[in-house]
Amino acid sequence: MDRIYLDNAATTPIAPEVIDAMVESLTYSYGNPSSTHSFGQEVREKVELVRRNIASKLHVKPGEIVFTSCGTESNNLAIRGSVEHLGVKRIITSPLEHKCVEECTRAMKKIHGVELVYIKPDSLGNISSESLREALAESREKTLVSIMHANNEIGNLIDLKEFALICKEYDAYFHTDTVQTIGHLDLNFEEIPVDFASCSAHKFHGPKGIGFAFIRKNLGLKSIICGGPQERNLRAGTENVSGIVGLGKAFDLAYQDLDSTKEFIKEIKKYCIESLQVEFPDIQFNGESGNMDKSLYTVLSVLLPFYDPMIGFKLDMKGIAISQGSACSSGAASMSGVMMRIIPEHLVGKSTPLRVSFSSMTRKEDIDKFIACLVAIKNELKLNNFQLNN
Ligand code: PLP
Repeated sequence: MDRIYLDNAATTPIAPEVIDAMVESLTYSYGNPSSTHSFGQEVREKVELVRRNIASKLHVKPGEIVFTSCGTESNNLAIRGSVEHLGVKRIITSPLEHKCVEECTRAMKKIHGVELVYIKPDSLGNISSESLREALAESREKTLVSIMHANNEIGNLIDLKEFALICKEYDAYFHTDTVQTIGHLDLNFEEIPVDFASCSAHKFHGPKGIGFAFIRKNLGLKSIICGGPQERNLRAGTENVSGIVGLGKAFDLAYQDLDSTKEFIKEIKKYCIESLQVEFPDIQFNGESGNMDKSLYTVLSVLLPFYDPMIGFKLDMKGIAISQGSACSSGAASMSGVMMRIIPEHLVGKSTPLRVSFSSMTRKEDIDKFIACLVAIKNELKLNNFQLNN
């Protein structure tokens, strides 16, 4: 059976060029970049070249890029680091953040007694700049704002520059989880004054287990891992050199063709929206995800006009991989916190959320097959209900 992968917000297939670069690095570049001999120094050069390329694309200084193991670690470094080393006593965040931000901010409350303030999103999952202002105006305690750039479940985007400028106005630190946007959107951190951002290579055809944090220079942040002075004292531990090389290759590839890839994927998303509307006229799209201008082009969050909690499993059996935006146990899915907030109460139990996410490797034929499978599942469901009731 030919399988179709429509879960690119969870992770993307690794690009062949990335594999080649990593194999070469694993084979020949085995020196420790902290060693002073030639084996080490050759590898150090490679690591620093990747750092410089990334920094130049994001318009930051190389010393502001800190290699980490993933997006989760990068977010933890920014949040935990600013509480433990920058005197943050208050965190303003949203209830729609990724688990790693949600759990880390909660841990800061539990461990360090930090005050947590949640900005209430509107019914489409948007966070307004006015509500950020209001939350910032409430207290003069040293504050960190942590709000994601693009939501990984519904694709809603915030106006990063506006949020960053508001934080500056109130002298608050601004951390944004950019795991779903770095590698997909052009970001210039010289113009957008965020203090901390995060990246994960596996979201744009790079390897898993490698990412970076952008940490604005001279803030005084320190490593949250005890150990050596690697990464300018911001991340102890020997660097994952082949991962860094793979991240660097994936990053170069992503930004080399960013505009054309974006247009290609947008076209796929538009095609998916329109084709779904033809087959399911009552379909809805969660949050802003059906709005091409207000959402990330790689993510489409769908609300099917029939209820089938086993749909993820059934699609998988037909060779289609999607996400239900849910925590899954024993095949059936329970709704995620984000979906619980976004889906109108009267539709819970009557409709089924699905997240479809695209990459440059997605084809229109994949969308056709996915929708044909949805139609088949709906018809099977109808037949089962008819047999049950007769
Ligand atoms: N933040 C967001 C918005 C994500 O989508 C993810 C991954 O799903 C993460 C953070 C965590 O990234 P990683 O898998 O690299 O730890």
